[in-house]
Amino acid sequence: MAGLCKALEATTKRKEKSRLLAEFLHGLEPGEVAPAVLLVVGSIFPEFDPRALEVGWSTMRRVLDGGKQTTLLNEPLTIDVVHKTLSSIAQTSGSGSRRLKSSLLEGLISRADPVEVEVLVRIIFKEMRIGVNEGVMLEGIAEAAGVKTGLVRRALMLTGDLGEVARIALTEGEEGLGEVRMRMFVPLKPMLASMSYDIAEVVEAHSGETAFEYKFDGARIQIHRQGDVVRIFSRRLSDVTESIPDIVRLIRESIGSEDAVLEGEVVAIGEGGKPLPFQDLMRRFRRVHEVEEMVEKIPLRLHLFDLLYMDGALLIDEPYVERWRLMEGVCPSELLAERIVTEDVGEVEAFLKRAMEAGHEGLMAKRLDSRYTPGVRGKRWFKIKPSESLDLVVVAADWGYGRRTGWLSNYHLAVRDGLEYRVIGKTFKGLTDEEFKWMTERLEGLKVREVKGTVHVRPGLVVEVAFNEIQRSRQYASGYALRFARVTRIREDMGPGDADTLARVGSLYEGQFRFKAKVEL
Ligand code: AMP
Repeated sequence: MAGLCKALEATTKRKEKSRLLAEFLHGLEPGEVAPAVLLVVGSIFPEFDPRALEVGWSTMRRVLDGGKQTTLLNEPLTIDVVHKTLSSIAQTSGSGSRRLKSSLLEGLISRADPVEVEVLVRIIFKEMRIGVNEGVMLEGIAEAAGVKTGLVRRALMLTGDLGEVARIALTEGEEGLGEVRMRMFVPLKPMLASMSYDIAEVVEAHSGETAFEYKFDGARIQIHRQGDVVRIFSRRLSDVTESIPDIVRLIRESIGSEDAVLEGEVVAIGEGGKPLPFQDLMRRFRRVHEVEEMVEKIPLRLHLFDLLYMDGALLIDEPYVERWRLMEGVCPSELLAERIVTEDVGEVEAFLKRAMEAGHEGLMAKRLDSRYTPGVRGKRWFKIKPSESLDLVVVAADWGYGRRTGWLSNYHLAVRDGLEYRVIGKTFKGLTDEEFKWMTERLEGLKVREVKGTVHVRPGLVVEVAFNEIQRSRQYASGYALRFARVTRIREDMGPGDADTLARVGSLYEGQFRFKAKVEL
């Protein structure tokens, strides 16, 4: 397996990678397939499994430095042994766990040859970097099993377990894959949306009439309910049931189906029923102790927007309109996302304005005949957000790495405050390669000094930066930070004196609360 990883790293050709993977998978014992597949993509457990290794770099260093490599005396490592040992490492917790983790690691490292050590370290620190993501692995599995990639992808979508899917593909083939069903309490990946700032464009892309729903600024949840058992999963598929007992109760009391998977967004509610900023919701979500106390302090509101499964039937291949109709049949209307169905741009604009005034983030547009495609970002769903922008001065920039090597690409952005410039955020988003090059040359001309990969410059370059929200932050000198900042234009026409001021940021920040509640905790 270690050899395979090196071979995969050495080629950038997708076809070649898939051939190498197929050949490798063919040569495995059935019991090795699942763990091998997970390890090669650099994970140990399926995505929905929250277990983590929690091995620090210092522990690893110590094990490596102490490295008694007694390979010759020991049995060579097997995939099974590696996977079981890593699982044991993840399972150890509590007092003495550092020692135990460390000795389990020593056991592995002492039996590994140098290439195996390298691969093990990469797996442990989630830095495989051999160009094999889930998509490439799916192709390898399909090739090995002689089945269509689509069939393997569908099985993964339903089970969320790449290893298990590989095992089924290789041992049971097409028939086994065809029999894979969604399992209750195993979350499906969420369907994703593309961004748009233009309503007319969305209407055109959806060929006319389309559904517009409020885009709530909260946390997405997938709710699985069977009888009285309710489990709730976050967007990243981790089980968050324990932190939101209020939502669990709400589902038990108000949903008309005892066998359903629903999707929606929870939003924290402040004074006067207005939504609170995302930051506050996260505080609620991360809570594991004194949960009920937080239930009182920060109440949540649920907005449901999809029904993926009901009464034994998976509904993801049903069109959006049908899923919505079925959802309406079992959910009280006050729990459903506010929406309109129209192709009238003016009507949508008015609806967007209402959404913003109610403290939400924008709109979602959903094609009426669209299926639910887990994990896929396409044009069947659009998110529409009005964004704001500021003209900011670049005061420093970091040398990039990876694709941006050789360019100054992470820009430290500042607002004007009297004669001073105060940083409000950093971003490397939004520019083309050509623009990176241009910015690099320009900034080198303004360079004052360079410290540890950061070039500090005279204030001379202004960029227009779009963002979605201003937050209070202690991280930057301005006392604020921008959420989702991206450079939208280089303002060659502006000098630093034309840049926006700290005072303007302050008033924009306060303006956000015209429609949103504030909370002090
Ligand atoms: P993205 O995840 O980047 O594709 O953006 C869409 C996100 O908006 C989802 O993940 C949800 O968390 C959130 N959201 C808010 N309101 C809705 C809605 N009505 N339908 C779908 N997603 C929504």
